[in-house]
Amino acid sequence: MSEKWVCPACGAKKPMVKEIDDKSRPPIITGSGMRPMYHKKMQCGNCGHEWVPEEF
Ligand SMILES: [Zn+2]
Repeated sequence: MSEKWVCPACGAKKPMVKEIDDKSRPPIITGSGMRPMYHKKMQCGNCGHEWVPEEF
């Protein structure tokens, strides 16, 4: 649970690590009248590293 909030590159934690939409990948759900739902990825505000947590 807590592991995904730790940057694998520099070890920074919340609140430096943020969860953002991964718009470089196709949305999980698209439908008329619904906003697309994207995969999530983690972004480190300290070093700029981005990674995808295993649970997704
Ligand atoms: Zn980092």
